[in-house]
Amino acid sequence: MKTINVKAYAAQTAASALAPHGIVRREPGPMDVQIQIQYCGVCHSDLHFARNEWGFTQYPAVPGHEIVGRVTAVGSGVKKFKVGDTVGVGCLVDSCRTCPDCRSGLEQFCTGMVMTYGSMDKHLNAPTLGGYSQSIVVTEDFVLRMPTNLDLAAAAPLLCAGITTYSPLKHWKVGPGQKVGIVGLGGLGHMGVKFAKAFGAHVVLFTTSPGKVADGKRLGAHEVVISKDEAQMAAHANSFDFILDAVSATHDVNAYFNLLKRDGNLTLVGAPEKPLPVAAFPLIFRRRSFSGSLIGGLPETQEMLDFCGRHNITCDIEMIRMDQINTAYERMLKSDVKYRFVIDMASLT
Ligand code: NAP
Ligand code: ZN
Ligand code: ZN
Repeated sequence: MKTINVKAYAAQTAASALAPHGIVRREPGPMDVQIQIQYCGVCHSDLHFARNEWGFTQYPAVPGHEIVGRVTAVGSGVKKFKVGDTVGVGCLVDSCRTCPDCRSGLEQFCTGMVMTYGSMDKHLNAPTLGGYSQSIVVTEDFVLRMPTNLDLAAAAPLLCAGITTYSPLKHWKVGPGQKVGIVGLGGLGHMGVKFAKAFGAHVVLFTTSPGKVADGKRLGAHEVVISKDEAQMAAHANSFDFILDAVSATHDVNAYFNLLKRDGNLTLVGAPEKPLPVAAFPLIFRRRSFSGSLIGGLPETQEMLDFCGRHNITCDIEMIRMDQINTAYERMLKSDVKYRFVIDMASLT
């Protein structure tokens, strides 16, 4: 197969810093779109993956699944895109297309789904490599249209942080008259706050960082609770319809179950390295439920992007150069991101 040489940044081992690394992409086939990557968001999943915290990383590993850029070539059969279009690619680059999940537009649950990084690339017979790179080639059905009115760099994190929070809020029918909690003001959490506000709920942010109270309110939270303060937590007991937990590290979910009403739900989107202890009593009393959610399918991701275009919703970002990625990771680990790093891919020369 014909390939194209592309510059990228990769981790060579779980312990090594990310550094320049040459990779190959396939030449676009008939149904493929070739994209020059302009910006790529930095998700905490990139860090979990680069450091093999989930146990399935193959090296060299190129993270990055909040990709936006310009179409530079299309295959002969491509209908939806043309050269020059501004497009996005999120966490998925392919799936089986025929199973019940795929037919329902829930490709993220397809057992044959291909993640943007960390899956097997059937074209190259090698692990898929993500967006910390100059370009990518993706089958057109997994390419998204970016709203033209939004700042492109600030829209990049919608491709993961956006859809991962939009999808469970929609699934659990968050709306006016409901009290909704968002746990953790990071990349995902700050989008959870924006969407829950946009959907009309009463939004309460839970943070461990007293320095984020003012930002939490500016981003749309009606109330901000410092989660380490037991009195502040107790004041909200039995009062929430829904809580979205976007914390990247081990923490006490039971404390949040106690804040749910009867039949309330806590959905976890955070994916900590270690299991979270779950106590029976906070769940069985009041019939509360605990569930998870994974990104979103292609139709819902396009719906979310269009919603953001109509409502002028983007992410609050800090732009970095590619060579600043390792310090960005260290800041992310200290919960010091305001509120998503985005790499200016023009800096990868
Ligand atoms: P992030 O920007 O680093 O934000 C995580 C936030 O969690 C921090 O800002 C902090 O908020 C809070 N936090 C961190 N350590 C904590 C601790 N020890 N105890 C309590 N709170 C803590 O990360 P992200 O990119 O938003 O990702 C969050 C998690 O979601 C990651 O595990 C990521 O892998 C996962 N994820 C899942 C999906 C999915 O489909 N389910 C998709 C994308 C990402 P405060 O300072 O406000 O406390
Ligand atoms: Zn992500
Ligand atoms: Zn499928």
